[in-house]
Amino acid sequence: MDHFDIRDGAMHAEGVPLDTIADAVGTPVYVYSAATIRRHVTVFRDALAGLEHDGRAPLIAFAVKANPNAAVLTVLAQMGCGADVVSGGELKRALAAGVPADRVVFSGVGKTVDEMAYALEADIGQFNLESEEEAETLSTVAAKLDRTARVAFRVNPDVDAGTHAKISTGRSENKFGIPFDTAPQAYARAAALPGLAVQGVAVHIGSQLTDLHPLKQAFARIGALIQSLRAAGHVIETADLGGGLGVPYDPAKPAPPSPAAYGAMVREATAGWACRLIFEPGRLIVGNAGVLLTSVIRVKPGVRSPFVIVDAAMNDLMRPALYDAWHNIRAVHPKGDRFEANVVGPVCETGDTFAMQRGMDRVEEGDRVAFMTAGAYAATMASTYNSRPLTPEVMVSGNKWAIVRARQPVEALIAADSVPEWATSSSED
Ligand SMILES: *Cc1c(COP(=O)(O)O)cnc(C)c1O
Repeated sequence: MDHFDIRDGAMHAEGVPLDTIADAVGTPVYVYSAATIRRHVTVFRDALAGLEHDGRAPLIAFAVKANPNAAVLTVLAQMGCGADVVSGGELKRALAAGVPADRVVFSGVGKTVDEMAYALEADIGQFNLESEEEAETLSTVAAKLDRTARVAFRVNPDVDAGTHAKISTGRSENKFGIPFDTAPQAYARAAALPGLAVQGVAVHIGSQLTDLHPLKQAFARIGALIQSLRAAGHVIETADLGGGLGVPYDPAKPAPPSPAAYGAMVREATAGWACRLIFEPGRLIVGNAGVLLTSVIRVKPGVRSPFVIVDAAMNDLMRPALYDAWHNIRAVHPKGDRFEANVVGPVCETGDTFAMQRGMDRVEEGDRVAFMTAGAYAATMASTYNSRPLTPEVMVSGNKWAIVRARQPVEALIAADSVPEWATSSSED
């Protein structure tokens, strides 16, 4: 469910016509709906009703990597969300947006010593460790700073999440987490290290999951592990169940399980765990809360269907090139007429293709087009490839809208480089 609808013949974001934004800011531009973000948090929170532990509701730690825009994080912080961060930069962004440090979980397979020190100084809620080696390093850093790191191990449950290989993280051959069978040894080792307080377990098996079964399997393994860790004398107070619930991209396909169905599965899977539950949804919160608004530069004939060349490209929205992702592509002013087209960007790569032989609203040169479900893993993955400045971002709330990231001038790209004196002469010395 989102707040991008056709009204009086033109697509709006909540109360604001997309044309108003395109006229003022130009295209391409990302447009986010604050009401949609808030609604998704509420729906997810409601779905987790009954999962309180010691009177505390589960922590919803938004996966910052899905959309780190400061305005997005601020809306989420205002709603009481925490943050799942995977770098020092994301931690800084989350804290700057007002997320309390004790609601921050630090995930990621390659935390550096500097990042560890920064997170320890900030006194974050939990580090999700991904190896025994990492536990050793964090212990050293914490001891040096005279701090205690509250830790969980991310356990790799070796289940196939049934999603695209590039966003699948819970198979034993993936780089993530510690192998399930080595967990007892990892916990024993961490418990003996200074500066670490073992407090929980964590799991995250992948993204855009459209089937609850692999999650259920993973959670069953985690439940068994909690029992055996407690039997071995470890205090397990938190269970971080990760993110991963999918969102609908293609309206013609069956919708992924609802948050309510997910919540019901979690209630069943975690009965008797006696842990504070942590969730790390990213896509579910922001995926359908954003569109990428573009203009058709021109339409070029193709062998089978015409090429619609838009002013957004793979550098603005990488998902189709990176994981064969499917985005619904809609005209901002649908004429009621449809055609089959290939939708491509201007970048000099064949991979800069958003859709081939797509049945879609008929559009022509100058028309505006929206790529739907572009709120997650979209602007955040943008690059400046082909010297295309980073895409601006706008947030809408009701009838209000604001630029939440300005269009980057190309001069800023050039100014970021520097040219050594010796490169300016043609001699070799
Ligand atoms: C990316 C990520 C998430 C969020 O995944 P979504 O599919 O966006 O919900 C949560 N936890 C970890 C550890 C991640 O890497």
